[in-house]
Amino acid sequence: MDKFSFFSNILSFVSTFFENILKIATLLFEWYVNNKRDLPWRNTEDPYCIWLSEILLQQTRVAQGLPYYLKFIEHFPTVKDLAAAREEDILNLWQGLGYYSRARNLHSTAHVIVKKYKGQFPSNYNDIRALKGIGDYTAAAISSFAFGLPHAVIDGNVNRVISRLFGIENPINKPAGQAEIKTALEQIFDRSRPALWNQAIMEFGALQCTPKNPNCIDCPLCAKCQAWSSKKVNILPRKEGKTKVMHVFHSYIVMMRGSKTYIHKREKGIWENLYQFPLVERQMTINEAIIHATEAYDIQGIVHFHSVIEIEHVLSHRKIFAKFYTISLNTISEILKNDIFETELDDLGKVFPTSVLTLKYLKQQK
Ligand code: SF4
Repeated sequence: MDKFSFFSNILSFVSTFFENILKIATLLFEWYVNNKRDLPWRNTEDPYCIWLSEILLQQTRVAQGLPYYLKFIEHFPTVKDLAAAREEDILNLWQGLGYYSRARNLHSTAHVIVKKYKGQFPSNYNDIRALKGIGDYTAAAISSFAFGLPHAVIDGNVNRVISRLFGIENPINKPAGQAEIKTALEQIFDRSRPALWNQAIMEFGALQCTPKNPNCIDCPLCAKCQAWSSKKVNILPRKEGKTKVMHVFHSYIVMMRGSKTYIHKREKGIWENLYQFPLVERQMTINEAIIHATEAYDIQGIVHFHSVIEIEHVLSHRKIFAKFYTISLNTISEILKNDIFETELDDLGKVFPTSVLTLKYLKQQK
C-alpha cells in the first residue's frame, strides 16, 4: 500500500468513526428530548442527590423508587444529615424496598464522605469508585451526571441496546460478551456530552428498546440496528447459565401475649440489623414449633397454638417458603433469652424496621 492510500484509509476510518458517533448520538439525543420522563434526579448536578437516586434505583423500578427518593431527600437533605442519622431510622425509611445492604452501605459511605472528604463528595472517578457500595456503573453515573466526566455507564439497559445495535452474539453476562459491549460502546460514546449520552441511552433502553416487545417499527436507530436487520431482536442479548434459585425454608415463632410479641435484631445476612420474630431456618410441624418455643425461650405459661400463615417470598437467588406459627401465651417467666425482647406487635415495621417478608405476614394476619 502506498503512502497516499495508507493515509486516505486512516482518514476514512477516522471520519466514519466520528460520523457514527455523531449520527447515533444525534438520533439518540433527539429521541431523548422528545421522550424522557421528568425525574427529580435529572434536574440536579448535586452528587449527593445523584448518588442517592442511583443506589435507590438499583434492582428497583423507577415508579417504586421515586417515593423513596423523595422521602430520603426530605428527611436527609444533605450527606451530613444522612451521616448523622441513626441506622434504624434509615432502615425504617428503606423498609419495603429490599436489598437492605444498600441502605447500610449508604449510611457508612455518608460517614466516610463527612469524615474523610469534609462533607464534599469526591469529584474524581477513582475516589468515587473506592466508596463502599459504589461499583463501576454507579461511579460512572455520578462522575458523568455530577461532574461531567467522560465515563460511559453500562447497566442492563445499555447492555441490551448495544448488544442489539451491534448484533453481539456472545453472552453479555460473560467476560467475552462484556469486552465486546465495551469496545462497541467506545465507538459511539459521545465523550463531549457524557451526562446527556448516559441519560439518553439508559432511557432509550428503558422505554424504547425494552426486553420484550421493543418498539422497532418506530425506532430512530432501526436503520443502524444489526439485530433488527438480521431478525434477532428477540434473541439478543444472550445470557448464559442463569443463576439457580435455591429453595429455603423458614419457620417463624410468633409468640403473643395480648397485644405484645417477642422479636430480636438480626445480626447477619441480607436482613442484618432488621428485626424479626424468632426464626428456625428449616421446615417445622406445629408440634415442633410449640416444643421449640417452650424449650428455647423457657416459656412457663399456658401455650396455645393459634394459627399458621404460609408465605412465599422470592429474592434474586432464593425462594423462601416461610411459615409463621402464632402461639398465645398466658404468662411468661423468662423469655429474655437470645436477645429476644418484648414489644407491641404494632411497633414491628414502624419503630423496628423489618424485612418485606415479615411485612407481608403482618399485613396478612390483620
Ligand atoms: S430497532 Fe429495535 S432492537 Fe434495534 S435499537 Fe431499535 S428498538 Fe432496539
